[in-house]
Amino acid sequence: MNDCIFCKIIAGEIPSAKVYEDDEIVIFKDISPVAKIHLLCVPKEHFAYLSEMNAARADLLGRTLEKIGKMKDRLGLSEGYRLVINQGENAGQTVHHLHIHILGGEPLPWGK
Ligand code: 5GP
Ligand code: ZN
Repeated sequence: MNDCIFCKIIAGEIPSAKVYEDDEIVIFKDISPVAKIHLLCVPKEHFAYLSEMNAARADLLGRTLEKIGKMKDRLGLSEGYRLVINQGENAGQTVHHLHIHILGGEPLPWGK
């Protein structure tokens, strides 16, 4: 999508600290981390919201969760991690290209 910052990162038009990439997802460091490890896992297909799920995207999301689980040790997440997807305004979503926040590297406080 033309004006999407994550599409530009995926295309290499904006630099990012990538830690993983394959044909369907990319994982890079969040520019403004809220935990010791804060990564963003982004599907290469542009869609904005979790609520735009369909069968193909559900398969993609399932494969993505499996990949994150298999990569946990090399991502520094062997002691645990939290995945967050913000949907819409009340959740504070600021980038309208679906992404999974991967948080870890330290004990994480639980909150809203
Ligand atoms: P949201 O609030 O939409 O769930 O999260 C968007 C996230 O993207 C935020 O945590 C923000 O710090 C991160 N972010 C926004 N712009 C950039 C950028 O240009 N590069 C990187 N690496 N992260 C970004
Ligand atoms: Zn996009």
